Amino acid sequence: MALITKKPKGTEDVLPKDSYRWQFVENIFREEARAFGYKEIRTPVFEHTNLFERGVGSTTDVVQKEMYTFTTKGNDSITLRPEGTAGAARAVLEHGVFNDPLPIKTYYLVSCYRYEKPQSGRQREFHQFGMECYGSSSPAADAEMITAAKSIFDRLQLKNIRLEINSIGCPECRKEYHKALTEYFSQYQDDLCEDCKDRLERNPMRLLDCKVPHDHKLAENAPVGLDYLCDECRDHFDKVKAYLDANDVAYTVNPKIVRGLDYYTKTVFEFICDDIGAQSTVCGGGRYDGLMEELGGNPMPGLGFGMGIERLLLTLDAQGVEIPKPETCDVFIASIGDEAGKKASALAIALRRAGLYAEFDVVGRGLKAQMKYANKIGARFSLVLGDNELEENKANIKNMQSGEQTEISLSPDAFLDSFMGLKLTNDFKEG
Ligand code: ATP
Ligand code: MG
Repeated sequence: MALITKKPKGTEDVLPKDSYRWQFVENIFREEARAFGYKEIRTPVFEHTNLFERGVGSTTDVVQKEMYTFTTKGNDSITLRPEGTAGAARAVLEHGVFNDPLPIKTYYLVSCYRYEKPQSGRQREFHQFGMECYGSSSPAADAEMITAAKSIFDRLQLKNIRLEINSIGCPECRKEYHKALTEYFSQYQDDLCEDCKDRLERNPMRLLDCKVPHDHKLAENAPVGLDYLCDECRDHFDKVKAYLDANDVAYTVNPKIVRGLDYYTKTVFEFICDDIGAQSTVCGGGRYDGLMEELGGNPMPGLGFGMGIERLLLTLDAQGVEIPKPETCDVFIASIGDEAGKKASALAIALRRAGLYAEFDVVGRGLKAQMKYANKIGARFSLVLGDNELEENKANIKNMQSGEQTEISLSPDAFLDSFMGLKLTNDFKEG
């Protein structure tokens, strides 16, 4: 067999046997979002390119190197979303959602696209769960956001996830800090990587994020942003920490955390797990009070986080967390002959309507092969319909585990009644 093509580099397929793992974590996201009062927002997978240039920041790696940008037939420059925040913020502005009672709390579950070098935990198409909160500048909101992310890790029973927090200040105090950073790194200008030479001019804080070992080493002795915070930013950070303490959320302050995107102000944080190799940041977020204005709206404080679902699943695997297996077939209705086949089909439909997972033969197999299939799909019960069963409108239903057989009526209502009884006596859901 010659396949006409394979999946593009940096993408993954989720196969039917594995999709329950995704659904499991997605359900937990949705449940936690609900508990924290967040409602889902869905935005397009592509946006006008300038949204990300402005909303993510033109000095970021994402915008400079990683975006999937193309020109449409109508000559628009379009970009596949590299992250979830810019689109959500645009939609909030475009639809006047900011008129709703504040704070606005939304979450998204999206695919993202970045042209990166694929490796474990780093893909070109990946998925994020994220939460966004607009309309609060209170440190209580920062702490609640961090606590929400933490509660997801707790629900998933993950261990070894550490929280690192920092404050990168507001545009005011950052001016001083930028000056200090520029002075510091200028001494080593000639030795910096090409990217960092550019960063030095455009956004010196980005140098702290450089992955090139030499620059990374230089960053170790660079001036520390926390030393440059203005009174308000310092007070805000102290209060965030106090709220985290009150929430029993453990953290360390890491002044090297600056986050990859331009729009952050004040609080930034990452959840890191060393069990999954070099791509160890599972969740990153922070406050972005300047974003709405940057996108042409009225000023409105905002904050949020993005969680990489692939990295989360890698962590679950690395830690051997058991994900509940999906439910298997409740009942397989085998049949011999056309008439019995029709009856099996009608009965299956009635059972499905009542919420059961019912199957019958749609392949045209003989009885033996049908039963083999029933075994393979893990059917808990089976019955065989032939001429006799049709005539008497009843059949023997077999518990596939114990082999025990019970007579059951083939009238849907009566069938369901007896079946529910069977489920209980056989500890059905436990199995
Ligand atoms: P990194 O430092 O790993 O490049 P980032 O700072 O670019 O991460 P964010 O833009 O903050 O990441 O995205 C939030 C989360 O999304 C990350 O913490 C990570 O879990 C996930 N993520 C980001 N890029 C990728 C990718 N290419 N493949 C898989 N997951 C990713
Ligand atoms: Mg990145």
